[in-house]
Amino acid sequence: MAKRSKKPDFEKLFDQAADSIRDEYRDRRGVMSFTQYLSVFARRPRTALRDASRYVLDAMDYFGSARTLHPWGEVTRHKIFDLDYDDGSRRLVGQEKAQSAVRSAIASQVRDGGVNRLLLIHGPNGSAKSTLINGLFSGMDRYSRLDEGEMFRFRWIFPARKTSTERIGFRARLDRGNQDTFAHLEDDEVDATLDCEFRDHPLLLIPKAERRDIMEKALEDAGIGDYKIPEHFFNASLCHRCRQIADALMRTHRGDIKRVLAHVQVEPWAFSRRYMRGLVQVGPQRSIDAGQRQVTADRSLSALPHEMQNMTLFESFGPLVFASGGILEFEDMLKRPLDSFKYLLGSIESGEATIGQSIIRLNTVLIATSNDVMLEAFREHHEYPSFRDRITLIPVPYMTRMSDERQIYELQLVPHIGRHVAPHAVSAAAHWSVLTRLHKPNPDAYSESLAPVIKDLTAAQKCELYDSGIVPEDLDDEAAAELLDAVPGIQIEDAATWQYEGRYGASPRLIRQVLLTASLREDFDCLSPFSVIEELEAVSGRTREYAFLEIGEQEGGYHSHVDFLKVVEKRVLDRIEVEVRSASGLVEEHRHEVLLDKYVSHVSRHVKGEKILNESTGQDEDPDETMMGAVEESFGIEEGDREEYRKGVISRIAAWAIEHPGQKMMVAAVLPGQLQRLRTAYFDRHREKVARVARLAMRVMEGDEAHMEEAEKTAGRKLKDRMIEDHGYCESCARDGIGRLLAERFKDN
Ligand SMILES: [Zn+2]
Ligand SMILES: [Zn+2]
Repeated sequence: MAKRSKKPDFEKLFDQAADSIRDEYRDRRGVMSFTQYLSVFARRPRTALRDASRYVLDAMDYFGSARTLHPWGEVTRHKIFDLDYDDGSRRLVGQEKAQSAVRSAIASQVRDGGVNRLLLIHGPNGSAKSTLINGLFSGMDRYSRLDEGEMFRFRWIFPARKTSTERIGFRARLDRGNQDTFAHLEDDEVDATLDCEFRDHPLLLIPKAERRDIMEKALEDAGIGDYKIPEHFFNASLCHRCRQIADALMRTHRGDIKRVLAHVQVEPWAFSRRYMRGLVQVGPQRSIDAGQRQVTADRSLSALPHEMQNMTLFESFGPLVFASGGILEFEDMLKRPLDSFKYLLGSIESGEATIGQSIIRLNTVLIATSNDVMLEAFREHHEYPSFRDRITLIPVPYMTRMSDERQIYELQLVPHIGRHVAPHAVSAAAHWSVLTRLHKPNPDAYSESLAPVIKDLTAAQKCELYDSGIVPEDLDDEAAAELLDAVPGIQIEDAATWQYEGRYGASPRLIRQVLLTASLREDFDCLSPFSVIEELEAVSGRTREYAFLEIGEQEGGYHSHVDFLKVVEKRVLDRIEVEVRSASGLVEEHRHEVLLDKYVSHVSRHVKGEKILNESTGQDEDPDETMMGAVEESFGIEEGDREEYRKGVISRIAAWAIEHPGQKMMVAAVLPGQLQRLRTAYFDRHREKVARVARLAMRVMEGDEAHMEEAEKTAGRKLKDRMIEDHGYCESCARDGIGRLLAERFKDN
């Protein structure tokens, strides 16, 4: 604790405040005197002592994070970007790496004492850069309206003279309200008020020399003496105009600081993007310069105390002023003249910005966006190296997981499509777009055992691997597990270069256009996956318009845009087949998941020589050798190799458990590929029966019921109804989908 002498005024004010006034400030539109503010501060010093970066970090952490498990690992989402409180249509889908990068960039500013870098969010055109920033802005806006996010600012109050002279008025108020303040005067008792455009923190009214002690004492009393007070509270002073006013009032009141503070009215405030309060976005056309102009006479300057009437007061304006205490975003930063960028980075370097005749300490989180083309050009500039240290680059690539990509359109586009959206229409478009973005991985970057697997990995397989951890069917368990483990590494193979995965390929804008065009087709009743594929085919021919179409094909089907159409169509038909199968009621869709779950738990007991609880009898029994043997037989494991195989399964389970403590084991991660194989074999056996019922459904939909037997009608109707009720088809797209499936897949069944 630092020395505490010679500051009787604040010490006393502070102690009085802490145990006197309660929540009174909440009643009167939140307005309070400085003394009342001190009591609020004493109760929640940690909440009050935040500079811009600390505040952003707190806001992010307030919304929390969630971990999602994938067969290849785990990702952490920062929920501030989910906009759960909204309708969610503007939430940031995917982009977990960028989310974490933003949080760590802010956290490192907090560690370093305050804003010291510009966050440059970059990526290809149409990637989610502005959606990411929007998430931060919305979250800040919301958080600042909660108790946890409370903030206060102050204004200067000058009481009316017409009822009393300034001096008499002062005394009268003091006596009547028994409060050393003008903060609670009615409007007609006030001649003039002056707001602080910078929303200076009320604690800055306390001279620097005494501020530290007040802050440390409050934290200590609150039992959080180890909280690191942001540098801002040690270094910052009142803005130029507030200092002018404070000095003038000091002279008026002959150095009595309590009477100076009587002119202070403190009130809560909140961020607002709409009103550019603390959250400001500057478009590439707008100047970033802040400025000052003289305060004009309509502010009833004549009401100011005599000593102030000869002062020239300026008001400040401009993005840097409006964003004070919050976030300032420069949209498409590099489209501006380099000088404005230099000015900004210079300010970051010095921690100060010049506004008109005044110099202010920077207390604003600074974010800029840029597309990669501009950023790459900027990197060639001879001054780039000197800027580099003041910039944190955060890439926001196009997405490479199709379920993420699909969600964007489900959220933003589907609600506006004026007709039925058939199942798989949106995923078909998402699938194609992700395929166009994938890179062929470099086998040399992986272990000797993995290299051949990587070499053979096709674009279609890589897409499934990223999406749901589905491994190529021909891999054995060991190779498949090794491949899954490698996915996080594969994803960042090119991350350090400009040719990173997700930089090139179809943009979400293009895909949106494709979906819209497909939704207007007259030859389809619905937005159909098949009309989407036809539109994608048209796009694939427009090589002159889209640079990504000109990237040469590579082995494994990478950048093979025409083949992608076949890959997409195959997946659509696969999905329809699964649905028809399940709607036929002839097969149990999840029997293999259940069986493999059972197999894994029996094997783990067997290897340890333990018994297992039979839930139907309530008895502990030996693991079921017959069941395990049957499963292994279907895996194609010879009888003599089974013990060895089981040990392999167990060691993968153990490895999983170490990497995912406390989590339920994912069969798909421990027995990758087996599930798919079992299902394929099982369904192949039932194909004929399923095809027969699907044909009956077609006849029902085509109005052929007159020629059908009762049992046939029932079976056909049931399949049709379940396609509609369980799988989201309408009659038109059900007929289209089943018809195509029969023609393409079930010709011979
Ligand atoms: Zn001020
Ligand atoms: Zn439909």
